[in-house]
Amino acid sequence: METAEIRRRWLKFFEDNDHVVVPSAPLIYDDPNLLFVNAGMVPMKPYMLGQQTPPWPRATSVQKCVRTGDIEEVGKTSRHGTFFQMNGNFSFGDYFKERAIELAWGLVTTPIADGGYGLDPERVWPTVYEDDDEAYAIWHEKIGIPVERMTRRGKEDNYWNMGVPGPGGPCSELFYDRGAQYGAEGGPAVDEDRYMEFWNLVFMQDDLSQVRSKADFDIAGPLPAKNIDTGMGLERMATLLQGKDNLYEIDEVFPVLAKAAEMTGRKYGEKSGQAAGQSHPDDVHLRVVADHVRSSLMLIGDGVTPGNEGRGYVLRRMLRRAVRAMRLLGYEDKALPELLPVSMDRMKASYPELEIDFPRISQIAYGEEDAFRRTLGAGTVILDTAVTKAKQSAASTGGGQATLAGEQAFQLHDTYGFPIDLTLEMAAEQGVQVDEPGFRRLMQEQRDRAKADAKSKKAGHAHTEVWRELRALGATDWLAYQGLSADAKITGIVVDGVQVPELRPGQTGQVVLDRTTFYAESGGQIADSGVIAGPYGELPVRDVQRPVKGLVVHTVEAGEHGLTVGDAVEAKVDPEWRVSACQAHSGTHVVHAALRQVLGPSALQSGSYNKPGYLRLDFAWNSGLSAATRSEIEEVSNLAVRQDLPVSAQFMTLPEAREWGALALFGETYDEQVRVVEIGGPWSRELCGGTHVAHSSQIGALTLTGEGSVGSGVRRVEALVGMEALRYLAKERMLVAELSGMVGAQPGELRDKVDALLVRVKDAEREIARLKQEQVQAEAASLVEQAQDISAVKVLTHHAGDLPADQVRSLVLSLRARLGDASGSVVAVTGVNAGRPVVVIATNQSARDRGIQAGALVKQAASVLGGGGGGKPDVAQGGGQDPSKVDEALSAVACAIRQTLD
Ligand code: ATP
Ligand code: MG
Repeated sequence: METAEIRRRWLKFFEDNDHVVVPSAPLIYDDPNLLFVNAGMVPMKPYMLGQQTPPWPRATSVQKCVRTGDIEEVGKTSRHGTFFQMNGNFSFGDYFKERAIELAWGLVTTPIADGGYGLDPERVWPTVYEDDDEAYAIWHEKIGIPVERMTRRGKEDNYWNMGVPGPGGPCSELFYDRGAQYGAEGGPAVDEDRYMEFWNLVFMQDDLSQVRSKADFDIAGPLPAKNIDTGMGLERMATLLQGKDNLYEIDEVFPVLAKAAEMTGRKYGEKSGQAAGQSHPDDVHLRVVADHVRSSLMLIGDGVTPGNEGRGYVLRRMLRRAVRAMRLLGYEDKALPELLPVSMDRMKASYPELEIDFPRISQIAYGEEDAFRRTLGAGTVILDTAVTKAKQSAASTGGGQATLAGEQAFQLHDTYGFPIDLTLEMAAEQGVQVDEPGFRRLMQEQRDRAKADAKSKKAGHAHTEVWRELRALGATDWLAYQGLSADAKITGIVVDGVQVPELRPGQTGQVVLDRTTFYAESGGQIADSGVIAGPYGELPVRDVQRPVKGLVVHTVEAGEHGLTVGDAVEAKVDPEWRVSACQAHSGTHVVHAALRQVLGPSALQSGSYNKPGYLRLDFAWNSGLSAATRSEIEEVSNLAVRQDLPVSAQFMTLPEAREWGALALFGETYDEQVRVVEIGGPWSRELCGGTHVAHSSQIGALTLTGEGSVGSGVRRVEALVGMEALRYLAKERMLVAELSGMVGAQPGELRDKVDALLVRVKDAEREIARLKQEQVQAEAASLVEQAQDISAVKVLTHHAGDLPADQVRSLVLSLRARLGDASGSVVAVTGVNAGRPVVVIATNQSARDRGIQAGALVKQAASVLGGGGGGKPDVAQGGGQDPSKVDEALSAVACAIRQTLD
C-alpha cells in the first residue's frame, strides 16, 4: 500500500469516527523550546496544557516531524528517519484509554479490503506502563491479547511527560513482529528491530508537580480533564505494509536511494542481510543519502535555509552529510541536481506545494552543495595538515593517541564550514581523535557572543511565560488595517519581564492594550511609530512586537507621568509614518515583481526589510546586476507606480493562495487563513500581513540605491521610495550642479568635461616626469666634476632628493657612463621616494677588478638606512626607513671603498 494511501485511510478512519482533520503545521513552529516540530502533539500543546480551549473535542492530523536526535541512527537501524510523518489522533477531555485502544486496534487489524491496514492480529505486541493495570486489562480482556504477547515496561519506555510540571501519563506502544529473519524471539524487550514499534498511545491522566528527569517525578493527583495523544509513524506503517526491510526502502524514500546506487555504481543490498545489524557500510551510506535528501527537501520547503546556527545548521549538516556520503561511495560530481528532483517527485503527492516551490528549494540546496564543494577542497588540506601534525606530536611524545585540538575543529567549522561530525569522521578515518569537548566549548563561547550582540531590543521575547499569561486574558483586537487610532484599555504592563500594575514615571516598559491600531514588526516591515495618549498626556511608542500569537505589545516610555492597568487610552499611530511605511512595503512588492519580470521567476525573494522611505530585498540570484539591468528594474518598478495599479488584500486558505500563485515569504509560519496582497491583479501576488498603499501611484517614486551580494547565491537590492526617493534624487542633482559649476560646464556636458580634465591631468603628470628626468640628466654633467679620487678609483656619491627609484637608477647608470672606463669608478646615489630612502650603486669593470662589489656596498648603505637590499657586483639597489640618514649612508659607502682599496 502506498504511503499516500496509508495516510488517506488514516484521516478517513478518524474522520468517520468524529475527529476533525487538522492540517500539518510547518516544521518550524511557534515554540521557542523546539528547533523543529518533533511530534504530532506539538501544535496541540496549548490545548493539552489548558492554555487554550480546544476548538474541537477530537482531532486527527498527519504531522511533518524532524528529529535531529535520530540523525546518527539513520541507515543503521531499520526505523529512524530524520524527517518522518506522525499520524495522530487526539482527544481533549473526550474519550480515553479504552476508546483509544479500540480505535487503534480497529484501524490496524481491519482487513485492507474494508479500509484498514490489515495487519496480522497475532503478530501485534502491545506494551503497557508497569503500573497501568487498566490498560493491561483492556488489551487482555477486551481486545483478547494473550499474556505472552503483553509486556509491562518502566518509566523510561512507557511514561510520558514534558520535562516540566503539568500533564503526564502512561503510554501503551504497539509493536509488530516482523519475523525470525529480523532477529531473536521474545518481544520488544529482546529486539526492537524485529519487533518494530509503530504506534504510541499516550494516556494523559496525571498532574505532575515536580519533574526532575524522565523517570523521576512527583504526581500531585489526577488531571481534571484527561487527554489522548497518539502517534503512529507513517513510514513505519509503510515499511510493514510494503513488506520492506526498513523505512529507507518504502515508496517515498527508495527512489532516491536507487538513484544514488545507480550514480555510484553500487548494487544496493547485495552485501547486507535483512536485519539492520547486518548492513554493509555502503548500504548505510545510500540510506543516509536517501533520508537526508528528503529531509532537506522538506526543511527548505518549510523555509529553513543553510546556516551555521540552530535550524540552519541542522539543514547544512544534512545536506553536507548527503554529499559526503556520495563521495564516500566514490561519486565526486554534483549530486543533488540528480537526487533532489527524484525526492520531490515522490513527495509531491502529499505535498503538492513542493513542486510549485521547487525552483527556490532546489536553488538553495544546489547552492549549498556548490559551497560545500568549494570549502571541501580548502578544508581538506587544512584538516590533513592538522591530522599529520597531531600524529607527529603524538609520536614524539611517546606514541599516545593522536588528538586534533578543539580549536582546529572549531576553525574548520567556522571558516571552512566543516560540520563537526565530518571532522570527526575524516579524522577517525586517519586514526585521529578530536577534542570534541574543546570544540563544543568554543562553539558555546561563540554562541554566547552572538547572543550578547542580539540582546538589544526585541521587547521581552525571552519572557514567553509572561506573554502567555497575558494572552490567556484574551487576544488583542488588532485594527492596523482599519485605521490609525482607536480607543483602548490597558490590560497589562510588563517591566523587565515581570507583570506590574503600573508603569512609573521614568520607566520604559511593555504595554498591552485590549485593542490597537499599531502594526507590530513582522514580515520585514518595522513597527509603527506613534503615541499612547493616556490620562496624563501622550507617551511615545518605541517598538511594537507580537511575542506570542494574538498579543500585540507596545514598548512605551513613561516620561514624567505613568500609566496604570485599566487606564482608558487612545492608541494613535503617527499618520506620516504610516503613509511612508505603506509606501515602503508596497514598494518592496513592486521591486520583487519587477525583479522577477526582468530576471525571470527564479529571482525569488528570500528576505526583506522595510521602513518609512527605505526598503531592501534579498533574492536568489548568482551574479551581479549590470547597470543596464538595474535601470530596467527601476524602470519597470516606476512604470507600475505610474500605471496606478490597484492594491488589494484578501483572506483565503493557504492551498487557495498557492493555487492562485501567491508567493509565500519563507521563514514565516502562516495561519490557516492567509492574507494575499495583490498589486495590479496577478502582476504581484504575495502572502503578506503588512500595511500597503491603496494604489501603486501612492508609492510616489522609487529609486534603486544599491545592489550587492549578501552570501552565496543571494543578492540584495536597496531602494528609496516616496519623498525619500525624491530627496535622494534632489541631492544627486545638487551634486551634479555643484560639480558642473566647479568645472565650468553645463550639467549635460559634465561627463565630457570631466573626461577631458582627466586626460589633461594624465598628460600633465607625464610631462612633469619627463622634465624632471631631463633636469636630472642635465645635472649629471656637473656632478661628474665632484667625483673624488680614492686610490686611483673615481668615487661619486650624491643625494638626489625626491626621486623615484627607477630615476635614481637611470641617473646612476648615466653617471657611470660619463665617468668612463679609463680608470675604476663607483657611483652611489640616494633618493627619497614617498618618504622612504632608496640607494642605487654601480661599479665599472676596473673597480670590480680591484674588489669593489656594488651588492656588498648597497647592503652596507641600506643597513644604515634601516632597511635591506642587494644585487649584482655591477649594479645593486636597496632601501630603508629613515630618509634623514642618507648622508651617513653615503659616507659609509665611501669609507668601505677606502678600506677595500687600502
Ligand atoms: P523509537 O524508540 O523507535 O525511536 P520513539 O519511542 O522515539 O521510537 P515516539 O516518540 O513514541 O517514538 O513517537 C511515536 C511514533 O513515531 C513511533 O511509534 C514511531 O512510529 C514514530 N517515530 C518516532 N521516531 C521516528 C523516526 N525517527 N523515524 C520514523 N518514525 C519515527
Ligand atoms: Mg526515538
